[in-house]
Amino acid sequence: MLRFHRNEQIPYMRQEQRKKQIAILGSTGSIGTQALQVIAEHPDRFEARILTANNRWELLAQQARQFKPAAVVIANEDHYPTLRQALSDLPIAVYAGADALCQVVESAEVDMVLTAMVGFAGLPPTIAAIRAGKPIALANKETMVVAGELINGLCREHGVPILPVDSEHSAIFQSLMGEVSPIDKIILTASGGPFRTFTREQLADVTPAMALRHPNWDMGAKITIDSASMMNKGFEVIEAKWLFNVEPERIQVVVHPQSVVHSAVQFADGAVKAQLGVPDMRVPIQLAFSFPERLQSSFERLDWFSMHDLTFERPDTERFRCLALAYEALHQGGNAPCIVNAANEIVNRAFLEERCAFLEMPAIIERTLQQTSFIKQPTYEDYLATDAEARRIAASLLSPQ
Ligand code: NAD
Ligand code: MG
Repeated sequence: MLRFHRNEQIPYMRQEQRKKQIAILGSTGSIGTQALQVIAEHPDRFEARILTANNRWELLAQQARQFKPAAVVIANEDHYPTLRQALSDLPIAVYAGADALCQVVESAEVDMVLTAMVGFAGLPPTIAAIRAGKPIALANKETMVVAGELINGLCREHGVPILPVDSEHSAIFQSLMGEVSPIDKIILTASGGPFRTFTREQLADVTPAMALRHPNWDMGAKITIDSASMMNKGFEVIEAKWLFNVEPERIQVVVHPQSVVHSAVQFADGAVKAQLGVPDMRVPIQLAFSFPERLQSSFERLDWFSMHDLTFERPDTERFRCLALAYEALHQGGNAPCIVNAANEIVNRAFLEERCAFLEMPAIIERTLQQTSFIKQPTYEDYLATDAEARRIAASLLSPQ
């Protein structure tokens, strides 16, 4: 005879109230640490199930102690013994290596994967997560830049949603909530970075230290340099094309130094919807986690009476060639954006290490785009090969030290 005990209701109840189990790829970075702040603010809603880092094993161990994930992964295997030792008193599985990143995201317990790693390295684990049917909170824009078409196809095949974390794309996503009509135009705002008003002569001499001082956002080093060169905005145009299925002609970059309007969408009737707020990445991160709900937050509110002027300017693609190169790569299609991304990773690092001048960056990216084999309809393997080839070419174009 079937009997229902009171206790047997509990699994069902738990199902209803189950905390979302989040895997954070890149938990020690700028986005990763802010994601953990969001999780700490909502312990009733979210749990960090998996945390991963590349090198910063001490911070990873500290995060693991605080958030008690089921597993951690350190991508750089050299740190594995130390990390394992540091967590030996806790029931936390410790793994190492790039392949482990792809395996942990497939875990049945994971409900959402936040891709907060930097660069092309984010592509394989994102694909593994999509194949395992995990919703993606996408911070790693390079994934969409390199392989947007492939990612979209996989998402369709596996019924996986992508929730944008990039502030502009979250703003566009929010402006589209409740809309059924097509987008007429995307207004993608850009702060313009620290060199917005610099002449070409001044740009020739800028240093990494100057580039790392972003006026509005505190971010990881790579994206901060990309913001200074406006490659970041170029990548965001490509990201927007794939996330919202709009042609580049319908994406207008608008320089808005105050970073209050995070982006906007114009519709067929001329109406424009925008999302505004203080620059705080925890807002889009939290929304990606809680969508379709909005949760309470303690984050700073917009002070309408301290905003004296919000200004908007046309971007200058002569001084900021990287933005033009991103449009060029989009027009070429195929593996061209993958080439630009790979070359950019090389010159970005070289600039940071003072092995490449600021204005040399777009020049090397452009030459790499011309010299790397073009593939019209790349497969995943083609992307891996293109990435390797373009890195090799870009590195060979750097002036010898
Ligand atoms: P970050 O450098 O601060 O952190 C990167 C994280 O990824 C670290 O945890 C690092 O350990 C890990 N990582 C780096 N390389 C790795 C590798 N090869 N294998 C495994 N793990 C690796 O970077 P960030 O600023 O947090 O940016 C992360 C991503 O989010 C980037 O794609 C960036 O474009 C995007 N993004 C960041 C911001 C921001 O405000 N920081 C805003 C929008 C989008
Ligand atoms: Mg952005």
